[in-house]
Amino acid sequence: AAVDVSKHFTVRDQLGRKATVRAVEHASVALHRGRVVALVGESGSGKTTLARMLAQFHPVSSGEIRLAGHRAPPAGRGYFRQVQLIFQDPFSSLNTLHKVRHILGRVLRVHGHAHTRAEVEEQVLSLLNRVNLTPAEEFIDKRPREMSGGQLQRVAIARALAVRPTVLLGDEPISMLDVSIRLDVLNLLARLCDEEGLALLYITHDIASARYLCDEVQVMYAGQTVEGGPKEAVIQSPKHPYTRLLIDSSPDPDRTGRGLRDQDDAEDLGEPPNLTAPPDGCRFHPRCPFAMDDCRRAFPDRTTFADGQWAHCWLHQHGRSAELDRTTSKE
Ligand code: SF4
Repeated sequence: AAVDVSKHFTVRDQLGRKATVRAVEHASVALHRGRVVALVGESGSGKTTLARMLAQFHPVSSGEIRLAGHRAPPAGRGYFRQVQLIFQDPFSSLNTLHKVRHILGRVLRVHGHAHTRAEVEEQVLSLLNRVNLTPAEEFIDKRPREMSGGQLQRVAIARALAVRPTVLLGDEPISMLDVSIRLDVLNLLARLCDEEGLALLYITHDIASARYLCDEVQVMYAGQTVEGGPKEAVIQSPKHPYTRLLIDSSPDPDRTGRGLRDQDDAEDLGEPPNLTAPPDGCRFHPRCPFAMDDCRRAFPDRTTFADGQWAHCWLHQHGRSAELDRTTSKE
């Protein structure tokens, strides 16, 4: 879990001046074995930075990362074994020079799960079967350049599994794949979660695939986690104006899952804020039709609803929740 974590980066602009990017601000996410949480938001909303903090690729600026209820130790092999990232682009995340046997075998050897050639071969074949690259004997001696994008992403998932993690973090794992095989990869991730008890964080900008795969949805806007809860509650009855905008802008107006094929055609949502000088208070206030003085002053506390859904929005603290259902977007 990430508990109230923030991440600030120092960058230099074109004139060489230092600036601080407030990429993630007081965000939290909790993962549980056998369950999928979708982290949804536009690009630049801090989803990947939050995942990288969970994987301890980035140290947190404040807050803490917890594993099995305990504060995670500083990044190290023990932690990395448990939390594995699957990247968006399988082409660049795998060494194209080596055969699958070597790519997976090296991970097994480094982590002490296989020692002899026979052990490596047996376990690599088993991993290929687990990710449905069959017949495994055919794929074990292929090189990445001989494989399709979907097959490569399965090798990337197998490589993550070779470490024997308890948590997978999938950073837009289907967005660069051909639409015809996106569903297969989602089904594979769902099965790994369900049958093998892995916890999965599925990072996406696509509501339809999130709905297809996940148990819970969590929404990020400009580095802040603004809403979360059971997927049907969040998608059918969003409690934050940004979530409502995201859903209304999805190419899946009937919310049936059609957007899984059309996710690159989502409507333009307007400009997210510059995170070197983000708006005070609720960062959504410049785009929000409900913005009031409190919104510019402070980020609202979490309001929790009966079914476990929650949101950070002043509307609920001012008894104006019903307005969300009447009007949804800025004219
Ligand atoms: Fe943010 Fe205020 Fe709009 Fe709620 S009403 S989303 S707190 S600007």
